[in-house]
Amino acid sequence: MSDALGNLFRVVSWTAKQHRRVLDLLGCRCALCGETEALFLTIDHINGGGTEHRRRCTVTAMRTAIINDPDAKKKYRTLCMSCNMAAARCTDDEIKRAIKESIYS
Ligand SMILES: [Zn+2]
Repeated sequence: MSDALGNLFRVVSWTAKQHRRVLDLLGCRCALCGETEALFLTIDHINGGGTEHRRRCTVTAMRTAIINDPDAKKKYRTLCMSCNMAAARCTDDEIKRAIKESIYS
């Protein structure tokens, strides 16, 4: 393995482990639909401001801040990518109702 490829593998591995630590802290399940596949899970800023937070720092720095925040569970929650995108436009109740009424469920 080349040095560059080895370095890339170490970064990806470390990033995945850090993501897993955040999910272990907040819960490895979408708070709205129940999705549990870690690959699809994201972190939602409960009171908004996620876009601004991402502009101020890297994802790595944001994850580190969440891991070290004693109030993390009050500020953040786990959502799958679909629910997180929907949460920008709908209330939690609207998303849950849409999931319940979906022809796919
Ligand atoms: Zn979801």
